[in-house]
Amino acid sequence: MGIERSIDCPGCGLHLPCPSWGFFYVTDEKGSRIPLEGNMESTIIAETLGIDEQAITGCVFAPGRDAVSVRLMEERVGYASFCLCRTCLERCSLDGKRDVFRCPSCGSEDVKTFIQLIGTACPRCGRGMLEER
Ligand SMILES: [Zn+2]
Ligand SMILES: [Zn+2]
Repeated sequence: MGIERSIDCPGCGLHLPCPSWGFFYVTDEKGSRIPLEGNMESTIIAETLGIDEQAITGCVFAPGRDAVSVRLMEERVGYASFCLCRTCLERCSLDGKRDVFRCPSCGSEDVKTFIQLIGTACPRCGRGMLEER
């Protein structure tokens, strides 16, 4: 923790802070994604989904772990990766398993996760190679 990681272009100075590659989230009733700080914040997940917390923390045989809870988690808990649009340079977060890789700002499909950006040509200057700092 506390690592000031970023992706940088030595050519033009493009600087993209990325303390993490993404985040786990739980989707609420309205369809909004609530980011989770840790890998699994069982209390927040349980409250948001309206299920027994034991269904999340417990082992497979925990009493609260019924089929409905498991299905809700499969449907509404996920991991979103931080992404950069190579067309407009806007940042966004997308779930690689659920979302179409398309920029919410400009509609471009030239969107890459931060991990995918490392070692590729800088989208701003086109000369430098992006590197992890
Ligand atoms: Zn550059
Ligand atoms: Zn864009």
